Amino acid sequence: MQFELNKPLKDFNTFHIEAHAEKLICIEDEASLLETVAFAKKEKINTHFIGGGSNILLTKNVQGIVVINQLKGIKIIQENEEFVMVNFSSGENWHECVLWAVEHNYGGIENLSLIPGTIGASPIQNIGAYGVELKDVFHSLEAIHLTSFEKKIFTLEECQFGYRDSIFKQQEKGNWFILNVTLQLTKNPVCNINYGNIKDELLKMNIEYPSIQDVSKAVIQIRSSKLPNPAEIGNAGSFFKNPIVSHSHFEELKSLYPEIPFFTVSNGVKIPAAWLIEKNNWKGFKEGDYGVHKNQALVLVNYNNAKGNDILNLSTQIITSVQQAFNITLEREVNIW
Ligand code: FAD
Ligand code: NAP
Repeated sequence: MQFELNKPLKDFNTFHIEAHAEKLICIEDEASLLETVAFAKKEKINTHFIGGGSNILLTKNVQGIVVINQLKGIKIIQENEEFVMVNFSSGENWHECVLWAVEHNYGGIENLSLIPGTIGASPIQNIGAYGVELKDVFHSLEAIHLTSFEKKIFTLEECQFGYRDSIFKQQEKGNWFILNVTLQLTKNPVCNINYGNIKDELLKMNIEYPSIQDVSKAVIQIRSSKLPNPAEIGNAGSFFKNPIVSHSHFEELKSLYPEIPFFTVSNGVKIPAAWLIEKNNWKGFKEGDYGVHKNQALVLVNYNNAKGNDILNLSTQIITSVQQAFNITLEREVNIW
């Protein structure tokens, strides 16, 4: 077990924030992971896990051990004429797994193309995009408890998935390391193209009867044209969750802002956070090296050498202004470290 000491983390987080890990280790197999967590327990030091670093904001140096997850492997564990159950090791890159599934014509995750990060982080916030969430294809995951070292299989129900949420962001936060995730994909895919501008993109591609390969390509095209590429401008995707308000609160807002966009969902009315932020004139805001992206008000950005705290403070100012204007408290989606 060899640690790199005082290791810069700039290349391990998509915000490209300059911060250091007291100790850093890349893990390629389960035995090394076990050895590392056992060492951390014995020495009474904290362990922090990074997959792709695309959903964290570093606001200080990280004390203790930072583990970079590089556990790899894709296994079909069961299949019949209709379904295939695939077990993905947690250090696999999410988008590469989507491309693998699409190539084999296994349907269910094509709408989740081009989401950065790892398989292991996907259940943490029940990743979602273009009308599909991880929970729609999730079968189970295997995790290891960080103090008892007990291994446990979590079923769909046990993960308590919600909108960008799971038990791993709530009562079990920081207690488990996810080793692998099993998804149930379909061999007879039905494309889900009702969301947003997927249909328009397919029409632009002259495709009337799309395959999942076409849907994946369309999503990749839309995302590439709309979202800042973290390799060029540091960011962690949507910084805030889209708020869900009660029907009565929504009616009040609608009377004040008849143009307000909304989506009725099972537990209320979802309002795009980007609209609330843009309405308060934050879109394109820039101060020094940090700001709000000029095309995507939900995406906070590091143009060069911003500090994590600059971005955190900016997010607090945005939360306050949205609270004052609309009586809605935006919740951060990104994990603050
Ligand atoms: P990290 O940032 O490395 O980790 C996130 C959190 O999970 C940390 O707290 C970490 O400790 C914990 N964690 C990571 N791996 C494990 C593990 N194996 N066991 C236990 N804990 C773990 N998200 C969406 O939902 N939908 C989108 O469409 C989307 N688009 C994005 C677009 C861009 C440009 C960017 C930059 C981000 C986007 N995101 C999106 C957010 C992000 O990609 C996802 O949340 C992704 O799942 C994070 O994966 P990661 O491996 O980078 O996680
Ligand atoms: P968009 O398609 O312009 O949509 C804007 C907003 O409207 C989002 O809040 C989205 O909710 C909501 N919405 C649109 N159509 C909907 C429908 N049919 N039913 C319910 N809600 C609907 O958004 P975008 O910014 O270009 O992103 C496209 C997709 O990628 C979205 O699903 C978004 O969540 C996802 N994305 C996520 C991140 C991240 O970091 N989390 C980053 C980029 C993109 P939802 O967000 O609930 O879908």
